[in-house]
Amino acid sequence: MTTTTLQALVSDLRRALGPRHVLDTPEDLIAFEYDATIERALPDVAVFPATTEEVAAAVLLARRYGVPVVPRGSGTGLSGGAVPVNGGVMVVLTRMNRIVEIDTLDRVAVVQPGVINLHLQEALAPHGLTWAPDPSSQRVCTVGGNVANNSGGPHTLAHGSTVNHVLALEVVLPDGRIVNLGSRVPDAPGIDLRGLMVGSEGTLGIVTRATLRLVRASESVRTFLAVFDSVEAASEAVSGVIRRGIIPVAMEMLDQEIIRIVEPRIHAGYPLDAGAVLLIEVEGLAEGVAQDAATVEAACLEAGAREVRSAEAKAERDALWEGRKAAIGAIGAAAPAFYLLDGVVPRTRLPAVMKQVMALTAEYGFRCANVFHAGDGNLHPNIMFDPAEPDAERRVLALGEAIMRVCVDAGGSVTGEHGVGLEKRSYMEWVFRPADLDAMTMARDAFGGAGFFNPCKVLPGGHGCATGHAAELAAVMSDPRVYV
Ligand SMILES: Cc1cc2nc3c(=O)[nH]c(=O)nc-3n(C[C@H](O)[C@H](O)[C@H](O)COP(=O)(O)OP(=O)(O)OC[C@H]3O[C@@H](n4cnc5c(N)ncnc54)[C@H](O)[C@@H]3O)c2cc1C
Repeated sequence: MTTTTLQALVSDLRRALGPRHVLDTPEDLIAFEYDATIERALPDVAVFPATTEEVAAAVLLARRYGVPVVPRGSGTGLSGGAVPVNGGVMVVLTRMNRIVEIDTLDRVAVVQPGVINLHLQEALAPHGLTWAPDPSSQRVCTVGGNVANNSGGPHTLAHGSTVNHVLALEVVLPDGRIVNLGSRVPDAPGIDLRGLMVGSEGTLGIVTRATLRLVRASESVRTFLAVFDSVEAASEAVSGVIRRGIIPVAMEMLDQEIIRIVEPRIHAGYPLDAGAVLLIEVEGLAEGVAQDAATVEAACLEAGAREVRSAEAKAERDALWEGRKAAIGAIGAAAPAFYLLDGVVPRTRLPAVMKQVMALTAEYGFRCANVFHAGDGNLHPNIMFDPAEPDAERRVLALGEAIMRVCVDAGGSVTGEHGVGLEKRSYMEWVFRPADLDAMTMARDAFGGAGFFNPCKVLPGGHGCATGHAAELAAVMSDPRVYV
């Protein structure tokens, strides 16, 4: 886009949204060039709409000027989904942060997309209700981002990911039309476009309002911290619990490396000499919880747990969880940089895959800390590195690719919950046949977003998008607007 065209677009956007809600200077835009991955790219302009109509106006102007639209919530995404690789108009939804309605009888909440996940949970708590998706980033991430990425979280093991907790969506389509998908009552007739929109990572439309299904907070909750000498023993406990017929609401694992990073900073009480700890939570009616608790404890001890602590009071449970919730932040304090990966394997393959992950990490010369949703078989290796070291970013990306390959070869997939985004686009060919990818491409194109709405995301190939991770980076680096 020429400077004159960009200036004209910015003036039009300012007229539509108000001058204070359109940013176009490099020093302002730099705050919007990244998400929580390691790739970066500057938008040409960032806008902050307050209403659905303003979102639609911004989309129509971007269309008129022929530049891409990239939706963004809080930018905590871990697959580069909100990184505007081809520049364009970034539509930041954080001003649309109103909880419109909480209906305690029908157990429904209606929210704008910029509502922070934790703020919603705090508003629901006095009513004894909760929205099940609880990503570990919930203090920062938005409901719109959760919907776009079909996010999971520690407690989605039993409850299912975001798609199971969204009843209806108001969406601005790539042609500026405002549509409503799904319905306030379950099982809306017709093709489930609501389901298609959830997890579409901003490629099909911009979510401007979400009607959410709420669940009742449980009468009784018990959290366990089980301490093991090895990841293998902890993995065996995960299988052992499920073999006994229980699906706890959460089963999270932290390995020795992450325990040694977290404990000195957070003081959650995780033993520094443990090979791994498991956080397991069961909830329900008091009697059922007591029974499940006994089963969990037995399974852990049988798998070789050297200690099983149990907490029932909220403050004690929160203290055990604090180490898990603050783990990723603690890595940030312990290493100059880290690359957080997301893969998924069948639960039973966890011990073997973890061994391969650690061997590969050593081979590439990095340290790796693991904190993950073990119950789902959802791995999160965190590769720590120093970007100042020559070639470090290229090697860390190559290691990431090798680890994803291990997950796929083990019968798993390239993402458990963080989405495909920019990062894993080229890996999609490992898990889908060309005909499958064609079907997804046709669905995207039917919404009119191809090359316009969040281009170069999710699906491999595409006009102006390089393929392959290294090639993608090379393309990004050759673009003068982009800094990697
Ligand atoms: C420390 C940490 C822990 C995390 N833990 C978890 C976890 O436990 N589980 C999990 O699943 N994820 C986790 N994540 C990843 C991330 O927080 C989630 O994907 C989250 O849902 C992203 O929300 P966001 O508001 O930050 O979205 P962004 O990063 O801003 O955007 C994510 C994607 O959604 C699109 N998007 C955003 N808003 C809209 C909208 N209104 N309409 C259409 N598209 C939109 C963007 O274009 C982008 O593709 C974690 C991240 C961090 C940094």
